[in-house]
Amino acid sequence: MDGGLPSWCWDEEAARRKLEDIVWADGMACPHCGEKERLHRMRGRSHRSGLWKCNACRQQFTATVGTPFHGSHMRLDKWFLAIHLLYIREPGASIRDVERWLGVTYKTAWNVAQRLKLEVDVPDHDLDEIVRQLCGL
Ligand SMILES: [Zn+2]
Repeated sequence: MDGGLPSWCWDEEAARRKLEDIVWADGMACPHCGEKERLHRMRGRSHRSGLWKCNACRQQFTATVGTPFHGSHMRLDKWFLAIHLLYIREPGASIRDVERWLGVTYKTAWNVAQRLKLEVDVPDHDLDEIVRQLCGL
């Protein structure tokens, strides 16, 4: 892996900010109730970075809610690295390649590749949009 990769491929914070830019390109809104104004960032060590709270419905959220990455145990920058590699660098990559790039188990690599590349019969417009924005397509 050379050093020419965008920071959102290896920096979790950069990846999160990138996803926020994409998901909230038209302005931020609570994914639970649609509130646009009364939102504030949760701060402090006890909170995951990127966590927001809606003062209208009192629920918490991050930019990953409603995206294919929500609920994933894999770090967001690894997802973005996988996208970058599979869509830009190595479209013909194997599961073994993904496993090696990401430093994950074969099973995880298989799931990632399945999600990103193989399920082309199931249109995922949210994922399409994120891939398009990330890769500048
Ligand atoms: Zn809300």
